[in-house]
Amino acid sequence: MDVYVEKPKCTGCDHCKDVCPVAVFEMIDVNGNVNQDSAPEADQWKGQHDPASFQKWNGVSDGHDHFKKKSVAINGPSCILCQACLIECEGECIVIKDDNGNVYHSVYK
Ligand code: SF4
Ligand code: SF4
Repeated sequence: MDVYVEKPKCTGCDHCKDVCPVAVFEMIDVNGNVNQDSAPEADQWKGQHDPASFQKWNGVSDGHDHFKKKSVAINGPSCILCQACLIECEGECIVIKDDNGNVYHSVYK
């Protein structure tokens, strides 16, 4: 299994880390080494939040400190495709590819 996060869209909400049963995700400060997973070049962190994601979630008071950290899929091969993260991701920015080439993209519910 290959898992990555489209970094500019990630709100830093922690949901993926909180729900993942096999510790695929780690939260890293936006000033840290965020580009450690397999996100393609266009989805790597270059210091700019996705404008639509930022507009939607910045300042939202839900107990999370938005846009201070990014999620990094440091342990993608351990993913068991439980899909928990795929419905919890505020930024709709998690991508999972299984070994048969199927691609799953998070949709916030
Ligand atoms: S689908 Fe994979 S990465 Fe997402 S919560 Fe489940 S095990 Fe973790
Ligand atoms: S759930 Fe989505 S938006 Fe929230 S920290 Fe994880 S990857 Fe980022």
